[in-house]
Amino acid sequence: MDYRSHFLVDPAKPLRLSEIDPNDTGEHDKRSKAEKETEEYRLQMEANQFLLYADGRQSLLVVLQALDAAGKDGVIRHVFKAMNPQGTRVHGFKQPTPQEAAHDFLWRAHHYVPADGEVVIFNRSHYEDVLVVRVHELVPKEVWSQRYDMINDFERLLTQNGTKILKFFLHISPEEQLERFKDRLDDPQRHWKISESDYSERTYWSQYTEAYQDALMKTSTPYAPWYVIPANRKWFRNLAISQIIANTLKDMGLELPPTRVDIDDIKLKYHAAVQAANGNNGENGDKREKDKDGNGKNGKNGGKG
Ligand code: ATP
Ligand code: MG
Repeated sequence: MDYRSHFLVDPAKPLRLSEIDPNDTGEHDKRSKAEKETEEYRLQMEANQFLLYADGRQSLLVVLQALDAAGKDGVIRHVFKAMNPQGTRVHGFKQPTPQEAAHDFLWRAHHYVPADGEVVIFNRSHYEDVLVVRVHELVPKEVWSQRYDMINDFERLLTQNGTKILKFFLHISPEEQLERFKDRLDDPQRHWKISESDYSERTYWSQYTEAYQDALMKTSTPYAPWYVIPANRKWFRNLAISQIIANTLKDMGLELPPTRVDIDDIKLKYHAAVQAANGNNGENGDKREKDKDGNGKNGKNGGKG
């Protein structure tokens, strides 16, 4: 099953999260089979991230949004397992700093978008400015309601600059969230993850649902689509997201850049270097000293030739 079309938010249709089952596992009913497949996508992501980096003409931005304990951290751990740390970054969006708050809401997001060749994951994102900000009325409606268009313009700008954008909403049920809060309470290793706000935010579930539905519908575009990922089952969440990222990278037409040197000429230099090294091995220190003296000149001439 192609989860890219299956979980895509179609902006032309009303989105009702209550009609999407967070326990859904698509066509995958067996965890072991799903995990095997996920491993294949991981290998594909690994190969394609290498190409993305080498190619250096495009980039990938993955936006993760969800309520607390829905698994953003788990997805990041999982997806990043596939990636070389060189060329990847993750940025978490917390409450804006005074400096961030003194700018327009997209300023900080723009600062952290991927450079050519990079993969960046946003752990929360500029969408907080139409989610938590809306739910808690941190700015008036006249302000947040204009932000959807601004976000679409911003994401179009990034796309035209070579950034592929994928946006995932991790969809869990309130019951599952409570289970996960309990797991955290029962495990002292995870007590540091618990915050008061987890419980206070939970009481705003229906307001968040409404804010998410609106945001996802208004900003799921052909160039920056939203996917609602059923996330009660962690193994399925990882599978669906891995498949979508792997297939997206595959379709980006990534290529190794053209060779910048004359390989035949470099081969000659390589063989000369090997011969010189072999010749030097058996020689005494005097010879090496001589070579060193001559190196400056030879190096220069060699560089030109
Ligand atoms: P975890 O709880 O798993 O560590 P988290 O993403 O929930 O991860 P927290 O430090 O708990 O991290 O929460 C960050 C908080 O910052 C969230 O409550 C989020 O809503 C809030 N936040 C992010 N952006 C904004 C914003 N623009 N305005 C107000 N609050 C924001
Ligand atoms: Mg939190």
